[in-house]
Amino acid sequence: MRTNLAPLHARLLNTPAIELWPAPLLRARSNGDARLLARARTVLRRKRDGRYLAAALDGGLMPLVPRLADEAGIDKALDLLETQEGPRRGPPPPPGELPLHGLRERLEALGLDDGYATRTGLALVAEPDWLLLAGFDRYRRPLWLRPAAARAWQAMRAAAAADGVTLEAISGYRSHDYQLGIFERKLARGQSMAQILQVNAAPGYSEHHGGDALDIGTPGEPPAEASFEATPAFAWLREHAAAHGFAMSYPRDNPHGIVYEPWHWRFSRWDSPRPS
Ligand SMILES: [Zn+2]
Repeated sequence: MRTNLAPLHARLLNTPAIELWPAPLLRARSNGDARLLARARTVLRRKRDGRYLAAALDGGLMPLVPRLADEAGIDKALDLLETQEGPRRGPPPPPGELPLHGLRERLEALGLDDGYATRTGLALVAEPDWLLLAGFDRYRRPLWLRPAAARAWQAMRAAAAADGVTLEAISGYRSHDYQLGIFERKLARGQSMAQILQVNAAPGYSEHHGGDALDIGTPGEPPAEASFEATPAFAWLREHAAAHGFAMSYPRDNPHGIVYEPWHWRFSRWDSPRPS
């Protein structure tokens, strides 16, 4: 993967079924992929399984699947690509939110009803229609966040580093499709919904969908373990995160009944009002 795109410049454009990726940030899965990605500006990626659907090259659009025109949501993605490739007209507007109806249908198909929302007091979280590159996570994957959260994370990480503390991102934005995929695979392997919900947030209800939350770690610590609370990184966060607009979402005994997650932080200070 070429990681020559600077944080806070590259954008992930989002539609309900397809993402538009800056090609240099995608991993090549074969030599053919590598040659193609080296020439492409933007790649259309199916969210459900990560399949590359088409690449925007200087010479035009190259389909990467046999029947691109039949692909669900392709019209919306191609319209967005056209806007993206057109002349720049100033800075992009703040992210809007994608509709939730497709998610609701898939949750119903999975057999996950409103009882979950009632039980946990959690609400469905819409995906933003674009995200900003906030840097890279521990695994060298692009870290995507809403723009204000991305800038705040970069500033907070730099402030911690100046104090001799290393903050590492473990995971930022995750799509509904990503979470639905986890559930579909586990159900197919014979696990019950109740079993899966003990370990995974229900698709659509994770703060990671909204692009304001990230899991934070520090070198030498396993990801997403309660032992993180004994690290200097956590002590630093307790003291300084609020000044950067970040708060822990799931402290001990939180009202949602979610296990204590000292690694999960959400940016909120400059939140734009959300439609209800
Ligand atoms: Zn988290």
